[in-house]
Amino acid sequence: MLNGRTAVVTGGSRGIGRAVALGFAGNGANVAVVYNGGAEAADTVCREAESLGIRALNYKCDVSDFASVKAVCERIYADFGRVDILVNNAGITKDNLLLKMSEAEFDGVLGVNLKGAFNFSKHLSRYIIKSPCGRIINVSSVSGITGNPGQTNYSSAKAGMLGLTKTLAKELASRGVTCNAIAPGFIDTDMTKGMPQAVFEQAIKNVPLRRMGNPDEVAALASFLASDAAAYITGEVIRIDGGMCI
Ligand code: NAP
Repeated sequence: MLNGRTAVVTGGSRGIGRAVALGFAGNGANVAVVYNGGAEAADTVCREAESLGIRALNYKCDVSDFASVKAVCERIYADFGRVDILVNNAGITKDNLLLKMSEAEFDGVLGVNLKGAFNFSKHLSRYIIKSPCGRIINVSSVSGITGNPGQTNYSSAKAGMLGLTKTLAKELASRGVTCNAIAPGFIDTDMTKGMPQAVFEQAIKNVPLRRMGNPDEVAALASFLASDAAAYITGEVIRIDGGMCI
């Protein structure tokens, strides 16, 4: 389905990004896995991806650092010779109520989630527009659609990603590149593992399907959006949340 294409997945070392990278690899794409702290995890993802018969390399880079992202994007293009798909997935949370939220907590979350997506889109789009099947997929969140108490920073960043998605969809359409956002609800990864039990139970009560999603379910959606079957979908926000936001 994605044979011969090259996909860049930020935050590809763990959780949703890991599943997306392996899903792409399973569909025949070469993958560039971008990570920040988890070198060993990124290496493991690449070895698993290679066992599926494709090329996989990992790149250490703080997505919020404009200059580092530029350098890494140039290396990725030099290593693979093309970039067809970008998944802006790297993300962090630093939850706090507005009255207690520090400037660093706000800036840190905006820097990784929103500016990180801008940085990679900015530095890779010159290569993606050369692809006959260019795709940008932004991993936002239902928090960016509905807002969420304790997540002023995260909700703002994820809502910002929706504006970024729609603007890039319009700017890059003439070059045949689609840009869509995925808005996951409650997915079983390290990000949600630290949740207090009471908060977890309340969250599940708000999910009509009464369970968390798993990263492979999000990866299946990303593979669909990256495929030729989704060529006429652009500027869309697709929730994958078990009905949480119906
Ligand atoms: P996760 O398990 O915590 O993984 C986060 C990934 O992002 C890791 O690969 C991490 O790499 C990378 N990362 C973090 N900061 C980075 C930075 N500054 N530069 C480069 N990479 C960085 O999170 P997840 O649950 O898979 O979440 C993935 C995306 O889905 C995020 O954007 C998140 O906001 C979104 N999302 C998740 C959920 C959920 O319920 N899990 C719901 C809605 C949206 P290192 O380990 O190498 O640092």
